[in-house]
Amino acid sequence: MYDWLIVGAGFAGSVLAERLARRRGERVLLVDRRPHVGGNAYDRLDEAGVLIHQYGPHIFHTNSEAIVDYLSAFTAWRPYEHRVLAMVDGMQVPIPINLDTINRLYGLSLTSEELEAWFAARAEPVADIRTSEDVVVSAIGRELYGKFFRGYTRKQWGLDPSELDRQVTARVPTRTNRDDRYFTDTFQAMPAQGYTRMFERMLDHPNIHVMTNADFRDVREVIPHRRVIYTGPIDEYFDFRFGRLPYRSLRFVHVTRDVARHQPVAVVNYPQTDAYTRITEYKHLTGQEHPKTSLTYEYPSAEGDPYYPVPRPENQALFKRYERLARAEADVWFVGRLATYRYYNMDQIVGQALAAFRHIDAQLGRPAPA
Ligand code: FAD
Repeated sequence: MYDWLIVGAGFAGSVLAERLARRRGERVLLVDRRPHVGGNAYDRLDEAGVLIHQYGPHIFHTNSEAIVDYLSAFTAWRPYEHRVLAMVDGMQVPIPINLDTINRLYGLSLTSEELEAWFAARAEPVADIRTSEDVVVSAIGRELYGKFFRGYTRKQWGLDPSELDRQVTARVPTRTNRDDRYFTDTFQAMPAQGYTRMFERMLDHPNIHVMTNADFRDVREVIPHRRVIYTGPIDEYFDFRFGRLPYRSLRFVHVTRDVARHQPVAVVNYPQTDAYTRITEYKHLTGQEHPKTSLTYEYPSAEGDPYYPVPRPENQALFKRYERLARAEADVWFVGRLATYRYYNMDQIVGQALAAFRHIDAQLGRPAPA
């Protein structure tokens, strides 16, 4: 008899398995239907021996010291500040848009103060900001919107920004200085030996039994357990009884090239050309030395694994119906991005799982001695 059946070995499920086993001394069966642990953060050596991220680039960044402290028990860190370029008008320029982006794109030599005025002169006032297009056009004007946002958004969501809720592009981060870091969090780093190694250390405990290639549906009736933590899709748990929650998916094409370096930074976005949205070169992230290099091309698609919840009010309303069922479910906790139908970064999911643990611990009281 397991104390817990935990569904999903991503950050949500693994953090909870670790806490319940180590802190409460309870017996955990952690299942994942994929052939590995780590969820979407899973990384592996490819055929050439280059460390790649199977489900697209995962860069760790947070402002929470508590979350860094927690994860640091399972990994050392490699300092890494993420930088992204966008291929626009045949040039690779920094994104978020900064002083260098505009000066290079337009052959100017503006100062920061002049750039502020330059943006202000182009911004188009929009009385009622409703769509993603309104957000961007009102901040930086129609021309930059066309160069950087329209095509990218159309590829990413399969919809024009004018059809997407304003929350999709809640904010357009533009900078009038030369800061070209993609994130500004106080802690930005990669697990020194990769994410999968970090997960393996987290789950290395005699009370945790990991079963991969195992679907919840196939084990729930046959493996005795007292309680469940479910980090899979919430609509699937309830057999899609109100219909499916829509997601946008991605197709990842991994390639290895016989050159040491392909591009100047880890990620280059393609807002204007090509069917893919971006190319990632992993050696920038991992610091690995290798005579070859491995890349991932990302092609957004309507079909495939659930990656990005489609942010529309009617989808939130549908989620709320499932959430009401979830609240009424005895001895089952719903945690993680798929169970809460929301895009979260990794640090947020670690925070959510640690909070869920505190809640469970308080609710159940001290476990009975074995
Ligand atoms: P997941 O990692 O998705 O884990 C859920 C697991 O549950 C999966 O392994 C799945 O196989 C399993 N599962 C589901 N249903 C069942 C079932 N019925 N039976 C058994 N197993 C099941 N975050 C960042 O902080 N930085 C980034 O740079 C970043 N980049 C990203 C890039 C992409 C392309 C995507 C899609 C996401 C990115 N994220 C990033 C977000 C990050 O992936 C998530 O925050 C994190 O993976 C969430 O962890 P989770 O445990 O909730 O879900």
